[in-house]
Amino acid sequence: MTQNADIAIIGAGASGLAAAVAAAKNFCGNVTLIEKLPRVGKKILSTGNGRCNLSNTSLSADRYSGATQLLNGISEDYVSAEHFFGEIGLAVKSDSEGRIYPHSMAASSVLDALRFAVLSAEVNTICDFEVKKIIKKNNSFVITNGESDITAKRVIIAAGGCAAPSLGSDGNGYELAKSLGHTVTRLYPALAPLRTDVNLVKAVKGLRTSATASLIINGEKAAEQSGEVQFSDGALSGICIFNLSAMAAENIGKCEISLDIAPGLSKKELFIMLSSVREVRKDITCGELLTGLLHKRIGQAVMKAAIDISFNTPCGEITDRQLSQICRIIKDWRFPIKGVSDWSLAQITSGGISGNEIKGTLESKIVSGLYFCGEIIDLQGLCGGYNLEWAWRSGFTAGQNAALSIVGE
Ligand SMILES: Cc1cc2nc3c(=O)[nH]c(=O)nc-3n(C[C@H](O)[C@H](O)[C@H](O)COP(=O)(O)OP(=O)(O)OC[C@H]3O[C@@H](n4cnc5c(N)ncnc54)[C@H](O)[C@@H]3O)c2cc1C
Repeated sequence: MTQNADIAIIGAGASGLAAAVAAAKNFCGNVTLIEKLPRVGKKILSTGNGRCNLSNTSLSADRYSGATQLLNGISEDYVSAEHFFGEIGLAVKSDSEGRIYPHSMAASSVLDALRFAVLSAEVNTICDFEVKKIIKKNNSFVITNGESDITAKRVIIAAGGCAAPSLGSDGNGYELAKSLGHTVTRLYPALAPLRTDVNLVKAVKGLRTSATASLIINGEKAAEQSGEVQFSDGALSGICIFNLSAMAAENIGKCEISLDIAPGLSKKELFIMLSSVREVRKDITCGELLTGLLHKRIGQAVMKAAIDISFNTPCGEITDRQLSQICRIIKDWRFPIKGVSDWSLAQITSGGISGNEIKGTLESKIVSGLYFCGEIIDLQGLCGGYNLEWAWRSGFTAGQNAALSIVGE
């Protein structure tokens, strides 16, 4: 069976839904949205811990890496995420750190707004259709799942990356792009926990602490992020660790994370403070020295990493040298990085379709009539709403340009 479309969008995730809304707004022909899962937008429901951090008030190119030149080509009609969602009836609000959420704080509201928008624009949505092959024949494309075909004048690949495959995208979009002549850069799981020595985090598993985390590559500080760090099973996680994960992934075997778990205090201030605690608690066991400054278990893990002393030793017996060693570990607690967690725990893919092969309109420079949007492109943002912002912006731009290219024929 063959169906005919003017514009076919492969993947009904965040960017594909935005592309469908923009294409249908600019064009009265057939816009077909193709999704391999039984329903559209599954990943959106899991974003922002179910609240969907859909954008950020402090958008700038330095929040992104990869093909950042593509940020310049965004459609002028895409004013902001607030404007885009306002036009489809979703109210949004921002928190004190600039993260933008739906007013309801429910990711389902974002998906509902997008679903209603494509429905009322009469976008033809086809679910349970996994695109296996795209062939360009003369001026049109044939898209197939092996059983039935869809022909289209324009194709937008919005199939996502490799991250969180249980939510739909498993990297097959890259294969579709490669079969059409595109190059895919090296792919890494990003915004993901970093694996370290299991023994170093065993005692503090399940705990969180605020910290400044530095990525040390070949002994030199390469990047720094502040926030909450979580100790999990053989790994460090939390937003600040996620934001360092793409750079860490490229430097496995030569990088470490250094945690400063008393970021508000200098080493000297810390030493003076702990000297006074040592005096006050001189008869109490040294396993309690850091209680009050740090969670008890984290304090004990620091003591263990810093000095070889029994926790039953009275605090008063800790020497100045040992105290300064404890301060050193609090300000620079090192964790060798053994790898990045696998794709199942990653939020995004670092790498993707080379930006050199994509025009500012998001049309391919290799195959005319083919467009890309979203995570499949080699452009990645920090945590905080920047990746969904790219999905809406790039989806809107690809959808609008694909539609206008047909209208202008
Ligand atoms: C747990 C989690 C939480 C996140 N939270 C946030 C957040 O709060 N804020 C933020 O900015 N970013 C967040 N992200 C990242 C964000 O979700 C992605 O950047 C964004 O969804 C990418 O959109 P996309 O449309 O490119 O890809 P996706 O949303 O992955 O959509 C791709 C779609 O294509 C479909 N598909 C794939 N291959 C085919 C095929 N061959 N045929 C048909 N259909 C196909 C898939 O099933 C999927 O529905 C989070 C990610 C995860 C995993």
